[in-house]
Amino acid sequence: MPAAMPSSSDLLSSLRSMIRFDSEKGLIWLDQSRMLLLHTGAFGALRHELFESLGDEHARGLLLRMGFASGQRDAQLARKLLPQVADQDESFNTGPLLHSLEGVVKVVTVKQDLDIQRGRFYGEYLWQNSWECESHVRESGYSDSPECWSQIGYASGYTSAFMNRFIAFKEVECTAQGDSCCRIIGKPAEEWNDPDYLEYFRPDSIAHELLDLKMEVEHLRSSLARPQYDGPLIGASIGFLDAMALLHNAAPSQISVLLLGETGVGKEVFAHWLHDNGTRSRKPFVAVNCGAIPDNLIEAELFGVEKGAYTDAQSARAGRFERADGGTLFLDEVGDLPPSAQVKLLRALQSGEIERLGSEKTTVIDVRVVAATNVDLLKAVQEGRFRADLYYRLATFPITIPPLRERRVDIPLLAERFIERFSQPVGKHTRGLSDRALQTLVDYPWPGNIRELENVIERGVLLTPENAEIDEHHLFPRTGATPAQHLQASGAIGSDNAGHGKLVVERVLESGIGLEELEDGLLNMAVNRSGGNLTRAAKLLGISRAKLAYRFKSSKPGGEPSAS
Ligand SMILES: [Zn+2]
Repeated sequence: MPAAMPSSSDLLSSLRSMIRFDSEKGLIWLDQSRMLLLHTGAFGALRHELFESLGDEHARGLLLRMGFASGQRDAQLARKLLPQVADQDESFNTGPLLHSLEGVVKVVTVKQDLDIQRGRFYGEYLWQNSWECESHVRESGYSDSPECWSQIGYASGYTSAFMNRFIAFKEVECTAQGDSCCRIIGKPAEEWNDPDYLEYFRPDSIAHELLDLKMEVEHLRSSLARPQYDGPLIGASIGFLDAMALLHNAAPSQISVLLLGETGVGKEVFAHWLHDNGTRSRKPFVAVNCGAIPDNLIEAELFGVEKGAYTDAQSARAGRFERADGGTLFLDEVGDLPPSAQVKLLRALQSGEIERLGSEKTTVIDVRVVAATNVDLLKAVQEGRFRADLYYRLATFPITIPPLRERRVDIPLLAERFIERFSQPVGKHTRGLSDRALQTLVDYPWPGNIRELENVIERGVLLTPENAEIDEHHLFPRTGATPAQHLQASGAIGSDNAGHGKLVVERVLESGIGLEELEDGLLNMAVNRSGGNLTRAAKLLGISRAKLAYRFKSSKPGGEPSAS
């Protein structure tokens, strides 16, 4: 039996440090993937039930493909962890190590010959302590065939993703059939010359059809229960659907709608939807951000100017009201309108007539006004900053658009939409969000709402390497991983933030800061933060006071050589 790879213990401890327990949130992470700690007994019972209810053939296929998906995910992790490892064997060994770290089986290599460039693979391994064998024997007794189906799937999925070609593993000995250990062999699928066996890998079983049908029924049911939004507006949260129901009611009428909501919730998109789904959709939609136009120009902007109205007005110009004639005028941040413009707006709304600046001539206009504000307009009315009569005119039909943090269930939908939108123009292909990235998006408070989510996704798509998963650090490059407990090298669960530490180290390496500069900076910052108290500074740095004093002395010019 060949000895373990020389670096496998380093690799194992670095894999261990990627497991983090965030018990407060009920989450376990393996790098960016959410993991589960299950009782093998419970999982074994589920496995047994699959065989009972679906029959051997379908249950085997289902377990195999489940393992396959899991192996593929671990291959991504292996690639990420050892991207520049010249030794392909060493890099490949991440898979067997993960398989044992995840508590599935211990892998011993018998023979391994691989060459990614040439697509060559042959692997023979022994499995010890296979959980699937144990479980099978406990639930069903000894078998007359090998039974490690999900594990065979894992090995095949991992190797196929690693080699970029379909590699199928087969179990040729198995403890579930009385052998002393399990023995597996993997090679390119076509070399097996066994089409019946390869059928197990194809997702076309009855079980899959049943699952597909079930999904379809659920989908149809939910689409009957509530309307679908395929345009720029997307969501399934209660708050979003409530707002959409109100928009639906308002769209066919000419009622004045006031959209309320924080900055970035997409008020203009909602206003546009109202226009597109009303009777004026063939006429213009004109948007004005009242907060972005200086007070002295806003009236000219809204109502237009006549030639010679003031020294700058060298030619007549139509205002936004005239340009929106027959259609919709969207007044964003209407609370920012100065008092004189408020008077003119009220008059225009009441009479349906406007006058250009410097003109006596009135023009009849037919405009539906949709206003929006992110401030409390009623409070502005009470404080005398906004006219009460104008407020009641605008707020006939108020609709509140909830902030993103109150519609968290919509985040995955929105994120997916934005990934699509930002990937296509630059021709980028990603594997979508990692579990951890998605969890971070859902947990984040989103003070800038949908606009912020849009920006974060745009950056994430750009920073993600081609064909990779979008990870947490692509989305939020400056924040580290959430501090959480993780598995220490000893195997104990601790919280010394090694996972976090690794990220910090990565950042430092990327920044190009030298080791000495970094050490000087760390020492000085710790001493400054402790107000010059060396004992406290040493505690901050996690070293003894004597060590700190020594390092401090040796890092000064003319001092002793550095201790590090
Ligand atoms: Zn077995």
